[in-house]
Amino acid sequence: MDPVEKIPSDIPVVVIGGGPAGATVSTLLAQGGLAVALFEREKFPRFHIGESLMPQTYWTLKKLGVLEKLRSSDAPVKASVQFFSESGRPSRPFYFFERNPHECSYTWQVERAWFDQMMIDNAREKGVQVHQGAAVREVLFENGRAAGVIVDAGNGQPRPIGATVVVDATGLSSLIARRLGIQRKDPKLVKGAVFAHYENARRDPGIDEGATLVLHTRGNRGWFWYIPLSRNRVSAGVVSATRELFQDRGPPEQVLEEEIRNCPVLEERLQEARRISTVHVLRDFSYRASRCAGEGWVLVGDAFGFLDPIYSSGVLLALKSAEFAAEAILEAFEKRDFSAARLGRYGARLAKGMEAIRKLVYAFYTPDFSFANFTREHPEHRERLIDILIGDVFKDGVTDIFETMKRFCDLPDEIPLEKEENNRQDAKSAKN
Ligand SMILES: Cc1cc2nc3c(=O)[nH]c(=O)nc-3n(C[C@H](O)[C@H](O)[C@H](O)COP(=O)(O)OP(=O)(O)OC[C@H]3O[C@@H](n4cnc5c(N)ncnc54)[C@H](O)[C@@H]3O)c2cc1C
Repeated sequence: MDPVEKIPSDIPVVVIGGGPAGATVSTLLAQGGLAVALFEREKFPRFHIGESLMPQTYWTLKKLGVLEKLRSSDAPVKASVQFFSESGRPSRPFYFFERNPHECSYTWQVERAWFDQMMIDNAREKGVQVHQGAAVREVLFENGRAAGVIVDAGNGQPRPIGATVVVDATGLSSLIARRLGIQRKDPKLVKGAVFAHYENARRDPGIDEGATLVLHTRGNRGWFWYIPLSRNRVSAGVVSATRELFQDRGPPEQVLEEEIRNCPVLEERLQEARRISTVHVLRDFSYRASRCAGEGWVLVGDAFGFLDPIYSSGVLLALKSAEFAAEAILEAFEKRDFSAARLGRYGARLAKGMEAIRKLVYAFYTPDFSFANFTREHPEHRERLIDILIGDVFKDGVTDIFETMKRFCDLPDEIPLEKEENNRQDAKSAKN
């Protein structure tokens, strides 16, 4: 790791956070010839939730040059997702290769401790100055624009580092959006999650061995993910309304056990399994910032927005937003224009793709709606549905499905991105 002292007091780009979004944007910028310093407060490897990739991550992983590392790893290959009703009835698996029998229709189930370490090592190999155990305490604003950060490397001497562009990739901490008060929670998706890793759970054989399973609990009050990992491990966790999971319930271990008993298909798969991690809890995690960039700053990954985890879209959106942002930042340096308008050019495209997934999230939570019934009645939409499930949401026509779907469920209006004039206002208030 480069000592923070080695960083010049001014650098073209500072990236805050070394998860998938931060590692991706910084690698692509370094590959584009820019000097980049990345500050990550944790020392890797560390536990992180978010293990199931969507197939469309393939193209960004290819640009980063890490496909071979994934191919030669022991991460299980994910070829499908399958849904189970509260009575335990399975849907037909949605095989991603039904759309396109190419390698890009398969992906991996990754332990994030390994994946994030691999991504940050790759960033370093590509020329990024990576600093771990270095927390950014503050983003500095001057004359209404981001001008750098204060970094605390744990030596008791936080120091300012100037930057032309500051990229916020701090995940759920969402440093800039929270500070500017531009984070908008989704009031209909106030959810929480309780989860852990298990060893020796039962898996399906053959091509289904690496499948993600989504299983409703009895009474449809919540759902479980079941994600097979390497080393005979699985990630399992329940998502439900925050009050269902945390109001008048016992400690998280007890909640998780009770919820497993409430989901017989999962209980059967875990019968011979042993929990090998602590039980983790997260709550109230669906939100989006009202803009993705300002004067001299950019948001990527969860720092911009987080959708419910039902479709495992988090890492895909982290990678795609980082890729879009890197293009905008490289162009900004070429034109010497670091305005909100130039840096935020990718916002509309990103938000449109995210909105497609958000609509499908609402469909999933609509009582009595089921994808099995929907595709039975409208087999012509099965391919489009798979497009969204693989994360191919940034192309035209992907939202056609919703004209029909809105006859079955209440779909949300799209959240518009706010106008860029407001950026100046916010940046000014961030000084106070
Ligand atoms: C219950 C649940 C289940 C999920 N399941 C999936 C799934 O199966 N598949 C999937 O794709 N996604 C899933 N996700 C989403 C996924 O976890 C995130 O979308 C993804 O990790 C986002 O990547 P990121 O780089 O934006 O943020 P992160 O991965 O959170 O990385 C942010 C990094 O920033 C660092 N940081 C924060 N603040 C500072 C600071 N001030 N200074 C320096 N560093 C800082 C943090 O330490 C962290 O390493 C799930 C999320 C939840 C809540």
